[in-house]
Amino acid sequence: MELVEESPYRFRIDRRDPMRVPGVVFASRALLPDPAGDRSLEQVANVATLPGIVGASYAMPDVHWGYGFPIGGVAATDIAAGGVVSPGGVGFDISCGVRLLAADLDRAELRPRLEAVMDALSAATPRGMGSGAVWQLTSRDELEAVLRGGSGYAVRRGFGVERDLHRCEDYGAVQDADPAQVSDRAIERGAHQVGSLGSGNHFLEVQAVEQVYDEPVAEAFGLRPDQVCVMIHCGSRGLGHQICTDHVRAMEKVMGRYGIHVPDRQLACAPVDSAAGRAYLGAMAAAANYARANRQLLAHAVGRIFERQTGRRLDLVYDVSHNLAKIEDHTLDGGVRLLCVHRKGATRALPPGHPDLPAELRGVGQPVLIPGSMGTASYVLTGVVGSPAFASACHGAGRVRSRKQAVAVGRGGDPRAQLQARDIAVRGASRRGLAEEMPAAYKDISAVVEAAEGAGLCRKVARLVPLGVVKG
Ligand code: 5GP
Ligand code: MN
Ligand code: MN
Repeated sequence: MELVEESPYRFRIDRRDPMRVPGVVFASRALLPDPAGDRSLEQVANVATLPGIVGASYAMPDVHWGYGFPIGGVAATDIAAGGVVSPGGVGFDISCGVRLLAADLDRAELRPRLEAVMDALSAATPRGMGSGAVWQLTSRDELEAVLRGGSGYAVRRGFGVERDLHRCEDYGAVQDADPAQVSDRAIERGAHQVGSLGSGNHFLEVQAVEQVYDEPVAEAFGLRPDQVCVMIHCGSRGLGHQICTDHVRAMEKVMGRYGIHVPDRQLACAPVDSAAGRAYLGAMAAAANYARANRQLLAHAVGRIFERQTGRRLDLVYDVSHNLAKIEDHTLDGGVRLLCVHRKGATRALPPGHPDLPAELRGVGQPVLIPGSMGTASYVLTGVVGSPAFASACHGAGRVRSRKQAVAVGRGGDPRAQLQARDIAVRGASRRGLAEEMPAAYKDISAVVEAAEGAGLCRKVARLVPLGVVKG
C-alpha cells in the first residue's frame, strides 16, 4: 500500500480504480499499521469504493484490522447521491462506547477504601459471556421500551437523574429506532443482558485525574486534578451482535439488485434511502439505545455503591459511542449535505458552538473519551472547529497484538500480580483473559492521542490513570 506523507500526522492513499475517493490516514510513522500483520490500510482503500462516499476514507491513529471496515475507520456517504450504509462500518458491538463519571473525591481520600470499593463494584457488576444483568426483562414490550428509549427509559424508571441525559450523546436515545426490524433471535439474546458489562475488552475502571491540560474546559466537563473518576466501557451485547449478523446477511442478498459491487463481501451495504438501508438503520438505532440503557444501568449501580462506600456522589461527565452510523449535516464544497457518517472504533467529536451540544457544553465542545488500557493512561479530549474527518477522533489505543500474541508476549507472567505491583487493583477475568488485555496488546495511547491532536482532530483536556479495574 503506497502512502504519501501530506503533512505531519497525515498520510494519503491515492485514489485508483475502483476507489471513488482517496484514503487518508491520521498517524505518525511509528503508529502506521505493519502491513505484514495487519491489512487495515487495504481496508481503508476498500471502503473508498463504497457508493456515495465523500471526502475520503479516513483512518484514525488507532486504526487496526476489523470486519470489512478497519477499526478506527470513518466514512461518510451522501444520501441524496445514493450513498450507502454498511453494517460492517458500524461493527458488531453497535454503539459500544464509553461513559465517564466523576466523584467529588480526591484519590488520597479513596486510597484507604480502594480495595473495599473494588470488591463492592466487582460484586455489583454483572459480567462475562453469559447472562446476569441489572434488569431481567420478561416481555418483548418491556425490551422494546428499552430499544426506543435508551438511557431516557432507564432514567424514567428511576435509574438515574434527568441531568444525566444532558451529558449523553443524543440526550440518551437515537431517534427512529424500529424494533420491528430486530429479529426474535436478537431479542432473545438481549432480554437477559440489560445492565451487564460483557467480556474481554469491556471494563469498569476507577481512575484518577493525573493531569489537566486545559483547565477551563476540564472545569466545564466537571474534572479537576487528583479527582476520582469511573470509566465504563461496554456495548449492546448479544443483541447488537445478532442485529449486525442479520442485516449483513440481508444486505448480501439484495446488494446486487441495487447494482452495488464491493471488493470485500464484508462490506455488504445498501443505499441509506432503500428498504434494506432503512431496516438496518432502524435496528441499529434500537441496538444503540440498548447500549445506552446498558451503560445507564451500570452507572446507576456503580453510583449507589460509591455513595454507600465513600459517602460521595458520582456525576456523569459524558457518554459517547464509538461504533455507530449517524445521519448528520456537514458542509461540503460550500454546501450543506445530509450524510451518513460511519464511525467504527471512532468517536464523534463535536466542536465548540455545535447546536447538538447541550448549553452547558456548547462553549467548550464535546467530551471525547479515550480509554488506553488497564495498565496505562486514558484521556479526555474535546472536539475542535474545522477538524478534517466529519467531527471524529480516535476511540482508544487500538490493538497491535492479537489476543494470542498478547498472551505469548506475556510469557506466562502473572498479569494480576504485575498490575497489583503497580498499585492497580484488579477484579474479574481469568489469568488468560487478563494476559490478552495487557498494555502490550495495545498501541501507545499517548502517541495515539498526540497524533490525533497533531492531525487537528481534537484537543487534550485531561489524562487519567487507573487505580482499579473490573474486567469483563
Ligand atoms: P474497543 O472498543 O476497540 O474494543 O476498545 C477500545 C479501547 O479500549 C482499546 O483500543 C483500548 O485502548 C482500550 N482498553 C481496552 N481494555 C481497557 C482497560 O481495561 N482499561 C482501559 N482504560 N482501556 C482499555
Ligand atoms: Mn465493545
Ligand atoms: Mn468499544
